Parts: sequence; C-alpha cells; structure tokens
Amino acid sequence: MIRERFLKILQAGERGEGLSSEDLDFLLSAEDQEEDGALFQTAERVRKEKVGNEVHLRGIVEFSNICVQNCLYCGLRRDNRRLRRYRMTPGEILDCTRNAMKIGLKTVVLQSGEDPWFTQDRLSGLIRRIKEETDLAITLSVGERPAEDYRAWKRAGADRYLLKQETASPALFARLRPGRTLRERLDSLRALKELGYEVGSGNMVGLPGQTEKDLVADIQLFKEWDFDMIGIGPFIPHPSTPLAESPAGDLHRSVKILAVTRIVTGNTHLPATTASGVLDPQGRKKALLAGANVIMPDITPGKYREHYDIYPGKTEPQGGMDSLIQLITSLGRVIGRGAGNRRPPS
Ligand code: SAM
Ligand code: SF4
Repeated sequence: MIRERFLKILQAGERGEGLSSEDLDFLLSAEDQEEDGALFQTAERVRKEKVGNEVHLRGIVEFSNICVQNCLYCGLRRDNRRLRRYRMTPGEILDCTRNAMKIGLKTVVLQSGEDPWFTQDRLSGLIRRIKEETDLAITLSVGERPAEDYRAWKRAGADRYLLKQETASPALFARLRPGRTLRERLDSLRALKELGYEVGSGNMVGLPGQTEKDLVADIQLFKEWDFDMIGIGPFIPHPSTPLAESPAGDLHRSVKILAVTRIVTGNTHLPATTASGVLDPQGRKKALLAGANVIMPDITPGKYREHYDIYPGKTEPQGGMDSLIQLITSLGRVIGRGAGNRRPPS
C-alpha cells in the first residue's frame, strides 16, 4: 500500500521542490513493493522528461592499476601484494581510444589508481594526442592531484573528471581512506568545477559503518553540488583488503538511492554501474529502469582487464557491446548519438 506521505513526497520531488532530510529518509526507509514501484516509476518519468530516452555509452580504459593510496575497500590498494600490477604505455592507451572511435563511442573515460608515473606532462601529452587523432570527449578519473595538474589537463583538452565523494560522512571517509580527508576530496571537486570540467561524483552503498543518515547526506551533497554525473553502486568486499569479511552492499537499496537521486537532481547523468551488474546479472537493467541513463562498457585490452581487480566479479565480462545494445533497445531506449554533454535544465 502506498502511504499518503510517501506519495506527497514523490509528487513534490517530481515538481522539482526541495526535499528535506526527513523526506529523503522516509523515501529510503520504505520497504513495500508498491512504494518501490511508485518510486521507480517517478524516477523514470523524471529521467524521460529531463534527459530523454538516450543511454550514453562511455568506454572506460583502465590504464594503470598502480596506486599509492591504501583505501580499505579497494583491491588496487597499495598494500595488496597479491595483485599483478600493470601500467599501459601512452601508445597502448592511444590505440584503445582509436578503437573506441571505430566502434562508435563518443566518450572515453581514462581511469587508474593514483599512479605518479603519469605526471602532469605525460598525461597532458597523451590527452593532446587523443584530441588530435579522435573527436572523443575525454573524462579523466585518476584520483586526487594538485589543482595545477587539473588545470594543465583541462588546457590539454580534457572535458570531464570523475572523482567520487565515496561517502559524505567525514568520519567514515577518513577511516576508509587512511591519511585522506573528505574536505580534501571536496576541495579537489571544487577546483575541478571552477576549471570548467563537467564533474562526476558518486558513492558506495553499504560501506561498513555507513548509516542511513550518511546515505541521506550523500544525496543532499549530490543535490547541493549539482554534479554533472553521479555514480551510485553497492560496495563489494575484496578478499585481499581489510574489509574482506564485511558484507556486500544491498543492490536493491543502491537502486533506490539512484531513483531518489534522479528525482532530486533532474538532469544529471546517472550510470547503471558495473558494480550493480556484479551483484545481480539484472543489476544494470534494474538501474536503467530506475532513472539511470549511462553505461560504461569496459574497453581495456583483455590482457590487462583481469588485473584491474577493484572488487571480485568486476573483471568478469558482463556481455560485450552487442548485449549492451540489445539490453538498451529491449527497454525501448536508444543509444546516445552525441558526446552526451549534460543537457541544460528544462
Ligand atoms: N583511483 C581513482 C579514485 O579512487 O578516484 C579512480 C579509480 S577507483 C578504483 C574507482 C572507484 O572504484 C572508486 O571511486 C570507488 O567508488 C570504486 N570502488 C573501489 N573499491 C570498491 C569496492 N570494493 N566496491 C565498490 N566500488 C569500489
Ligand atoms: Fe587507489 Fe582509487 Fe583504489 Fe583508492 S579507490 S586504492 S585511490 S584506485
């Protein structure tokens, strides 16, 4: 049964009215199939109105699994000695982007651990080459770096930057990313915005110690910062990390957070994350039916892909490009044709 208050909050959200923490908490704490259905349908109406039927494909190149950070949740963390480390050469990365263009992609995401070999100059040079040879939009996702690096890469031609807040709880953030603070992360996000990047953030759902209140704070931060893209996915424990014994996040919960985020943020880009597809083969479909409008196919060369082992199951193929296209069209959606910049608000 759909409660009156639940419906009223959904209607207010759909009209674009601000929702309070209590409202968000009320939406998230509901555990009723009918209410879930109403939530997902509202998110889908907002998605259709604000960003349309296109699903944008962003090809991701995971070019180095070397990382100086030691995040407790991540298989690439510095202290994981079981991982075979690799670093693709700039030439190999360039080849990947040429292939991306050949298969019709309009955007590439260059992602890595925090790898100091990729200095400001090396990455600038690579970005320039990619821009000379392709018409791809370039998203970087290489972690926290000095603002001068962000500036140089923007000048070289980078268009977007992906740096998830991970969690809006300062205490949880500091515990999970030793030596780093949420404030520094937000400083980086601010610098990126000021430099004119389209900026992506996001979180993990079900982190050990994360509360309902923390998740509400995540959604509020998404809204307040008006990010251009927001990646929401479940936490998945990796056996070679200190969180090996922690339970995985709940996919259904993660999809609900995605749906609420669509309602409160309107026209932002929301990927159906890879992590969603790892916990449930239908995970990405569920996300696409709850407000998501982006998929990020992995285009890292096969010989490296298996070593970009952030969490278990990540490196297993979730179907190639054909099955993605089939999934998208089976839902009555179309593949995004342009670079997929954020639409101006309607
Ligand atoms: N090093 C960069 C950074 O941390 O921003 C980019 C690469 S990092 C592997 C990309 C994302 O992986 C992180 O933002 C985090 O949300 C996600 N991630 C890491 N470990 C995870 C886990 N165990 N479960 C789910 N997502 C995870
Ligand atoms: Fe490194 Fe990013 Fe993994 Fe943290 S999440 S260990 S910064 S790759």
